[in-house]
Amino acid sequence: MDVIKNYIDGQMVESSSSRTADVMNPATGEVQAQVRLSSKDELDAAVAKAAEAQKAWGATNPQRRARVMMKFGQLINQHMDELAELVSREHGKTLPDARGDVQRGLEVIEVCMGAPHLLKGEHTNDGGPGIDLYSMRQPLGVVAGITPFNFPAMIPLWKMGPALASGNAMILKPSERVPSTSLRLAELLQEAGLPDGVLQVVNGDKEVVDAILDNDTIAAVGFVGSTPIAQYIYGRACSNGKRAQCFGGAKNHMIIMPDADLDKAADALVGAGYGAAGERCMAISVAVPVGAETADRLVEKLVPRVEKLKVGPYTAGDDVDFGPVITAQAKARINGLIDSGVEQGAKLVVDGRGFQLQGYENGFFCGPSLFDNVTPEMDIYREEIFGPVLSQVRMDSYEDALNLIIDNDYGNGTAIYTADGDTARDFAHRVNVGMVGINFPIPVPLSYHTFGGWKKSAFGDLNQYGPDAFRFYTKTKTVTARWFSGIKEGGEFNFKAMD
Ligand code: NAD
Repeated sequence: MDVIKNYIDGQMVESSSSRTADVMNPATGEVQAQVRLSSKDELDAAVAKAAEAQKAWGATNPQRRARVMMKFGQLINQHMDELAELVSREHGKTLPDARGDVQRGLEVIEVCMGAPHLLKGEHTNDGGPGIDLYSMRQPLGVVAGITPFNFPAMIPLWKMGPALASGNAMILKPSERVPSTSLRLAELLQEAGLPDGVLQVVNGDKEVVDAILDNDTIAAVGFVGSTPIAQYIYGRACSNGKRAQCFGGAKNHMIIMPDADLDKAADALVGAGYGAAGERCMAISVAVPVGAETADRLVEKLVPRVEKLKVGPYTAGDDVDFGPVITAQAKARINGLIDSGVEQGAKLVVDGRGFQLQGYENGFFCGPSLFDNVTPEMDIYREEIFGPVLSQVRMDSYEDALNLIIDNDYGNGTAIYTADGDTARDFAHRVNVGMVGINFPIPVPLSYHTFGGWKKSAFGDLNQYGPDAFRFYTKTKTVTARWFSGIKEGGEFNFKAMD
């Protein structure tokens, strides 16, 4: 049995912890490796070494750090297929989807190649007589990234790129279900020229996360995962005086107006609802058609598309639409929620519960499910299902549909399908959600914008990647400077304007 190691000081190092977690092959249900769950002492030792390594890295000029990012980007491209295979092997998503996972992370690394520009400060000449002010962005020191299972490449890259390009050292704690991609990325970063110790990958679970939150040297924590854990990590990190940005779960709605192109809307819903088995924080899990006729026509169009979806292992080739879910527990939870939807009165139009795949009977596969007549009180509406289940909630008017989204606890992504620019514009202005798609189902912003939800989908300020990330991973120091020519003798004791 393979034992997955940590990456410490530029080397793969076996953890001394006796606690382990199984890394599953979700398609077969077999244990394919074990990962040791590192202890607090191991974490503290990794942080101490990272703090040492950060001194020289933080003092390296930003252009040289950017060159490491350039080389890293080239290496990711060269190893694209290998990285995608690693993602699929532990996560189960299809290879084309895994390539997208790597690609959307790589795009953040590409922006990090512009770190010197993004790290520039501000300057005011003659803020007072002979007085200049300038601000600089300095690294925080050692920061930590804690990442979820569902994007094994993209989210670690979102964390490590801006943090390292800003001159910090990073402790990365990947999901214990998909640890291998982060380790391979760390090796590629070293090959790209990152000095040893600047990125330490420490595998583990709650014990190591709590050690991160309580470690005095760690200045900031970037977390992505479910909402209860995001809220917990945000609270504990903040009360220990750290910067924290913690991105949580989601329930993303798509409004379909009567004037929308329903074929395009149905295609978009199938891709956004069932892609990656629904295990995306930007998946559309709720379709909100406006008007009974729109709803009836939409279901008619959805059913054949959903029934046609091909579910299978990533090894079965490119015509598989989505793979298994991550664990047996996730599958049982999804099926339990579907049961509750039926019990609570929703209409199960396509039932994916009994799905079986010959030769993969023990795999964690869920067939696609489609619900109609879902209401906001039902558990399938209130919970993030994180599986291949799309719910249709019928609304009579645009205002009702908009208010449904406004009243929802989550605010990660949303979309509207319409042919009317005025409605689309009104929606974009009034909805209280962080990322909005107009005739676009999964509006994950490009890497030079920023990514972040509202409400219970994110805790803390500043978004992930783009210019916000460079603000999050640096602190501002502002210097007020005056040179002593023509200055009056004596001290000044009053706090006053610079006149
Ligand atoms: P998770 O919250 O279970 O785990 C995320 C990380 O937290 C992992 O590294 C895990 O080891 C750690 N963790 C888990 N339980 C912990 C505990 N009790 N104490 C301390 N640390 C703990 O999330 P997941 O199942 O890996 O990922 C799926 C979730 O992530 C979904 O809710 C999804 O919506 C969300 N997500 C959000 C975004 C976003 O940007 N908003 C992106 C991707 C995924």
